[in-house]
Amino acid sequence: MSRIAYVNGRYVPHRSARVHVEDRGYQFADGVYEVTAVVDGKLVDNGPHMERLDRSLRELGIAWPMTPAALSRVQEEVIRRNRVRQGIVYLQITRGVARRDHAFPVRTAPALVVTARHAGPPKAAQVEKGVKVILQPDIRWGRCDIKSVSLLPNVLAKQAAREAEAFEAWLVDTSGFITEGSSTNAWIVDKKGNLVTRHLENAILSGVTRRILVELAVAEGHPIIERPFTPAEAKAAPEAFLTSTTSFVMPVVQIDATRIGSGVPGPVTRRLRALYEAHVQRG
Ligand code: PMP
Repeated sequence: MSRIAYVNGRYVPHRSARVHVEDRGYQFADGVYEVTAVVDGKLVDNGPHMERLDRSLRELGIAWPMTPAALSRVQEEVIRRNRVRQGIVYLQITRGVARRDHAFPVRTAPALVVTARHAGPPKAAQVEKGVKVILQPDIRWGRCDIKSVSLLPNVLAKQAAREAEAFEAWLVDTSGFITEGSSTNAWIVDKKGNLVTRHLENAILSGVTRRILVELAVAEGHPIIERPFTPAEAKAAPEAFLTSTTSFVMPVVQIDATRIGSGVPGPVTRRLRALYEAHVQRG
Protein backbone atom coordinates (compact mmCIF):
# COMPACT_ATOMS: atom_id res chain seq x y z
CA MET A 1 0.00 0.00 0.00
CA SER A 2 1.45 3.39 -0.96
CA ARG A 3 1.58 6.15 1.62
CA ILE A 4 -0.49 9.29 1.29
CA ALA A 5 0.41 12.78 2.50
CA TYR A 6 -1.73 15.88 2.83
CA VAL A 7 -0.07 18.92 1.24
CA ASN A 8 -1.83 22.29 1.08
CA GLY A 9 -5.33 21.03 0.42
CA ARG A 10 -4.59 17.81 -1.47
CA TYR A 11 -4.02 14.17 -0.60
CA VAL A 12 -1.05 13.07 -2.69
CA PRO A 13 1.22 10.00 -2.90
CA HIS A 14 3.90 10.37 -0.24
CA ARG A 15 6.72 9.76 -2.73
CA SER A 16 5.68 12.72 -4.87
CA ALA A 17 4.60 15.06 -2.03
CA ARG A 18 6.40 18.40 -2.50
CA VAL A 19 6.51 21.91 -1.09
CA HIS A 20 7.74 25.03 -2.88
CA VAL A 21 11.45 26.01 -2.84
CA GLU A 22 10.45 29.35 -1.32
CA ASP A 23 8.38 27.84 1.48
CA ARG A 24 9.56 29.80 4.52
CA GLY A 25 9.81 26.56 6.48
CA TYR A 26 12.49 25.44 4.05
CA GLN A 27 14.34 28.76 3.92
CA PHE A 28 14.01 30.12 7.46
CA ALA A 29 12.63 27.23 9.58
CA ASP A 30 9.71 29.68 9.90
CA GLY A 31 7.12 27.18 11.04
CA VAL A 32 5.82 24.94 13.78
CA TYR A 33 4.83 21.31 14.12
CA GLU A 34 3.06 18.75 16.27
CA VAL A 35 3.37 14.99 16.62
CA THR A 36 0.35 13.14 17.98
CA ALA A 37 0.40 9.45 18.87
CA VAL A 38 -2.06 7.08 17.18
CA VAL A 39 -3.27 4.09 19.17
CA ASP A 40 -5.92 1.72 17.77
CA GLY A 41 -6.31 4.12 14.86
CA LYS A 42 -7.29 6.99 17.17
CA LEU A 43 -5.51 10.22 18.10
CA VAL A 44 -4.14 10.31 21.64
CA ASP A 45 -4.66 13.58 23.57
CA ASN A 46 -5.00 15.59 20.38
CA GLY A 47 -6.84 18.36 22.26
CA PRO A 48 -3.73 19.39 24.23
CA HIS A 49 -1.65 19.11 21.03
CA MET A 50 -4.04 21.53 19.29
CA GLU A 51 -3.86 23.90 22.27
CA ARG A 52 -0.07 23.87 22.14
CA LEU A 53 -0.18 24.38 18.37
CA ASP A 54 -2.44 27.39 18.86
CA ARG A 55 0.04 28.87 21.30
CA SER A 56 3.05 28.23 19.00
CA LEU A 57 1.22 29.85 16.06
CA ARG A 58 0.14 32.85 18.13
CA GLU A 59 3.65 33.41 19.49
CA LEU A 60 4.98 33.53 15.92
CA GLY A 61 2.07 35.42 14.36
CA ILE A 62 1.25 32.60 11.93
CA ALA A 63 -2.44 32.14 11.07
CA TRP A 64 -4.26 28.81 11.39
CA PRO A 65 -4.52 27.37 7.84
CA MET A 66 -7.99 26.04 8.80
CA THR A 67 -9.98 25.67 12.01
CA PRO A 68 -8.61 23.28 14.66
CA ALA A 69 -11.64 21.02 14.10
CA ALA A 70 -10.98 20.89 10.34
CA LEU A 71 -7.30 20.19 10.98
CA SER A 72 -8.21 17.29 13.26
CA ARG A 73 -10.37 15.89 10.46
CA VAL A 74 -7.38 16.08 8.10
CA GLN A 75 -5.24 14.26 10.69
CA GLU A 76 -7.91 11.54 10.96
CA GLU A 77 -8.21 11.27 7.19
CA VAL A 78 -4.43 10.91 6.78
CA ILE A 79 -4.46 8.20 9.46
CA ARG A 80 -7.34 6.45 7.69
CA ARG A 81 -5.82 6.66 4.20
CA ASN A 82 -2.52 5.25 5.50
CA ARG A 83 -4.30 2.60 7.59
CA VAL A 84 -2.24 3.51 10.65
CA ARG A 85 -3.45 1.63 13.73
CA GLN A 86 -0.40 2.33 15.89
CA GLY A 87 1.99 5.14 15.09
CA ILE A 88 2.17 8.89 14.76
CA VAL A 89 0.61 11.69 12.78
CA TYR A 90 2.87 14.65 12.01
CA LEU A 91 1.69 18.11 11.07
CA GLN A 92 3.70 21.12 10.05
CA ILE A 93 2.49 24.66 9.46
CA THR A 94 4.83 27.26 7.98
CA ARG A 95 4.31 30.93 7.29
CA GLY A 96 3.88 30.00 3.65
CA VAL A 97 5.52 30.66 0.30
CA ALA A 98 6.90 34.10 -0.48
CA ARG A 99 9.86 35.83 -2.15
CA ARG A 100 12.81 35.42 0.18
CA ASP A 101 12.90 38.28 2.67
CA HIS A 102 13.45 37.90 6.40
CA ALA A 103 10.48 40.07 7.45
CA PHE A 104 6.99 38.55 7.35
CA PRO A 105 5.34 38.60 3.91
CA VAL A 106 1.96 40.30 3.63
CA ARG A 107 -1.06 38.35 2.40
CA THR A 108 0.71 34.98 2.34
CA ALA A 109 -1.36 31.95 3.30
CA PRO A 110 0.23 29.51 5.77
CA ALA A 111 1.31 26.16 4.33
CA LEU A 112 0.18 22.85 5.84
CA VAL A 113 1.59 19.35 5.54
CA VAL A 114 0.23 16.29 7.38
CA THR A 115 1.79 12.82 7.25
CA ALA A 116 1.23 9.63 9.23
CA ARG A 117 3.17 6.46 9.66
CA HIS A 118 3.13 3.21 11.52
CA ALA A 119 5.40 3.05 14.57
CA GLY A 120 5.44 0.30 17.11
CA PRO A 121 5.38 1.13 20.82
CA PRO A 122 8.78 1.64 22.50
CA LYS A 123 10.74 -1.61 22.49
CA ALA A 124 9.80 -3.84 25.42
CA ALA A 125 13.48 -4.41 26.22
CA GLN A 126 14.08 -0.68 26.58
CA VAL A 127 11.06 -0.25 28.81
CA GLU A 128 12.02 -3.27 30.93
CA LYS A 129 15.72 -2.49 31.26
CA GLY A 130 15.63 1.29 31.05
CA VAL A 131 17.82 3.43 28.81
CA LYS A 132 20.99 5.48 28.92
CA VAL A 133 21.12 9.24 28.41
CA ILE A 134 24.14 11.44 27.87
CA LEU A 135 24.58 15.09 28.81
CA GLN A 136 25.09 17.74 26.15
CA PRO A 137 25.26 21.53 26.34
CA ASP A 138 21.94 23.21 25.59
CA ILE A 139 22.86 25.45 22.66
CA ARG A 140 19.27 26.24 21.62
CA TRP A 141 17.57 29.64 21.37
CA GLY A 142 15.58 31.46 24.08
CA ARG A 143 12.10 30.32 23.01
CA CYS A 144 12.15 26.55 23.39
CA ASP A 145 8.53 26.81 24.58
CA ILE A 146 7.55 27.29 20.91
CA LYS A 147 7.39 24.00 18.98
CA SER A 148 9.37 25.39 16.06
CA VAL A 149 10.71 23.25 13.19
CA SER A 150 14.10 24.87 13.83
CA LEU A 151 15.63 21.75 15.40
CA LEU A 152 19.30 21.78 14.43
CA PRO A 153 20.66 21.86 18.02
CA ASN A 154 18.24 19.02 18.89
CA VAL A 155 19.42 17.09 15.83
CA LEU A 156 23.07 17.48 16.87
CA ALA A 157 22.33 16.43 20.45
CA LYS A 158 20.38 13.36 19.34
CA GLN A 159 23.17 12.40 16.96
CA ALA A 160 25.69 12.67 19.82
CA ALA A 161 23.43 10.34 21.80
CA ARG A 162 23.21 7.91 18.90
CA GLU A 163 27.01 7.85 18.57
CA ALA A 164 27.33 7.20 22.32
CA GLU A 165 24.78 4.38 22.01
CA ALA A 166 22.45 6.32 24.27
CA PHE A 167 18.69 6.72 23.88
CA GLU A 168 18.63 10.47 24.46
CA ALA A 169 20.71 13.53 25.27
CA TRP A 170 19.71 15.63 28.26
CA LEU A 171 20.60 19.26 27.71
CA VAL A 172 22.43 21.38 30.29
CA ASP A 173 21.96 25.16 30.33
CA THR A 174 24.70 27.72 30.99
CA SER A 175 23.75 27.84 34.69
CA GLY A 176 24.47 24.13 35.00
CA PHE A 177 20.87 22.86 35.14
CA ILE A 178 19.22 20.24 32.98
CA THR A 179 16.51 21.76 30.79
CA GLU A 180 15.05 18.75 28.96
CA GLY A 181 15.99 16.10 26.40
CA SER A 182 16.51 16.74 22.69
CA SER A 183 12.96 15.49 22.06
CA THR A 184 11.71 14.53 25.52
CA ASN A 185 11.10 16.04 28.96
CA ALA A 186 13.45 15.06 31.81
CA TRP A 187 12.37 13.90 35.26
CA ILE A 188 13.91 12.52 38.44
CA VAL A 189 12.46 11.03 41.58
CA ASP A 190 14.20 12.57 44.60
CA LYS A 191 15.17 10.76 47.81
CA LYS A 192 11.88 11.76 49.45
CA GLY A 193 9.87 10.30 46.57
CA ASN A 194 8.97 13.65 45.01
CA LEU A 195 8.71 13.80 41.24
CA VAL A 196 10.95 16.59 40.01
CA THR A 197 10.77 18.11 36.53
CA ARG A 198 11.70 21.55 35.31
CA HIS A 199 9.00 24.23 35.62
CA LEU A 200 7.39 25.51 32.43
CA GLU A 201 9.23 28.49 31.00
CA ASN A 202 10.90 29.56 27.77
CA ALA A 203 13.76 27.08 28.25
CA ILE A 204 11.63 23.95 27.69
CA LEU A 205 8.77 22.67 25.60
CA SER A 206 5.57 22.06 27.50
CA GLY A 207 5.32 18.36 26.68
CA VAL A 208 1.82 16.98 26.31
CA THR A 209 2.99 13.74 27.94
CA ARG A 210 4.51 15.80 30.77
CA ARG A 211 1.20 17.65 31.20
CA ILE A 212 -0.89 14.46 31.26
CA LEU A 213 1.54 12.69 33.58
CA VAL A 214 1.43 15.61 36.04
CA GLU A 215 -2.38 15.28 36.12
CA LEU A 216 -2.25 11.48 36.54
CA ALA A 217 0.44 11.64 39.23
CA VAL A 218 -1.33 14.36 41.21
CA ALA A 219 -4.57 12.34 41.07
CA GLU A 220 -2.67 9.40 42.60
CA GLY A 221 -1.17 11.57 45.32
CA HIS A 222 2.44 11.66 44.05
CA PRO A 223 4.03 14.94 45.18
CA ILE A 224 5.44 16.94 42.25
CA ILE A 225 8.01 19.69 42.44
CA GLU A 226 8.50 21.72 39.27
CA ARG A 227 12.01 23.16 39.45
CA PRO A 228 15.38 22.88 37.72
CA PHE A 229 17.80 20.13 38.78
CA THR A 230 21.50 19.61 38.09
CA PRO A 231 23.30 16.64 36.51
CA ALA A 232 24.84 15.91 39.95
CA GLU A 233 21.39 15.73 41.54
CA ALA A 234 20.08 13.57 38.70
CA LYS A 235 23.03 11.17 38.94
CA ALA A 236 22.44 10.79 42.70
CA ALA A 237 18.66 10.37 42.33
CA PRO A 238 17.07 7.00 43.12
CA GLU A 239 15.14 7.10 39.83
CA ALA A 240 15.05 9.06 36.59
CA PHE A 241 12.87 8.91 33.51
CA LEU A 242 11.85 10.82 30.40
CA THR A 243 8.52 11.47 28.73
CA SER A 244 7.33 12.09 25.18
CA THR A 245 4.54 11.28 22.76
CA THR A 246 6.53 8.41 21.27
CA SER A 247 8.38 7.15 24.41
CA PHE A 248 5.50 7.54 26.89
CA VAL A 249 7.29 7.16 30.26
CA MET A 250 10.76 5.71 29.68
CA PRO A 251 12.98 4.71 32.62
CA VAL A 252 16.50 6.18 32.59
CA VAL A 253 19.04 3.92 34.31
CA GLN A 254 22.30 5.57 33.27
CA ILE A 255 23.42 9.18 32.83
CA ASP A 256 26.80 9.38 31.10
CA ALA A 257 28.88 6.77 32.99
CA THR A 258 26.79 6.90 36.19
CA ARG A 259 24.27 4.22 37.04
CA ILE A 260 20.98 5.55 38.45
CA GLY A 261 19.71 3.88 41.62
CA SER A 262 20.31 0.16 41.35
CA GLY A 263 20.57 0.33 37.56
CA VAL A 264 17.08 -0.99 36.87
CA PRO A 265 13.77 0.89 36.47
CA GLY A 266 12.49 1.93 39.88
CA PRO A 267 9.04 1.35 41.37
CA VAL A 268 7.81 4.95 41.00
CA THR A 269 8.78 5.08 37.34
CA ARG A 270 7.16 1.72 36.66
CA ARG A 271 3.96 2.83 38.38
CA LEU A 272 3.87 6.07 36.37
CA ARG A 273 4.41 4.21 33.13
CA ALA A 274 1.53 1.87 33.95
CA LEU A 275 -0.68 4.86 34.80
CA TYR A 276 0.19 6.54 31.51
CA GLU A 277 -0.35 3.35 29.47
CA ALA A 278 -3.76 2.90 31.08
CA HIS A 279 -4.60 6.50 30.18
CA VAL A 280 -3.61 5.89 26.54
CA GLN A 281 -5.65 2.68 26.36
CA ARG A 282 -8.72 4.48 27.74
CA GLY A 283 -8.45 6.75 24.66
N1 PMP B 1 10.86 18.51 24.57
C1 PMP B 1 11.19 18.61 23.27
C2 PMP B 1 12.33 19.50 22.88
C3 PMP B 1 10.48 17.89 22.31
O1 PMP B 1 10.79 17.99 21.00
C4 PMP B 1 9.43 17.02 22.72
C5 PMP B 1 8.69 16.19 21.71
N2 PMP B 1 7.85 16.96 20.94
C6 PMP B 1 9.13 16.95 24.08
C7 PMP B 1 9.86 17.70 24.98
C8 PMP B 1 8.02 16.06 24.57
O2 PMP B 1 6.77 16.59 24.20
P1 PMP B 1 5.50 15.66 24.00
O3 PMP B 1 5.27 14.94 25.29
O4 PMP B 1 4.40 16.62 23.67
O5 PMP B 1 5.82 14.73 22.88
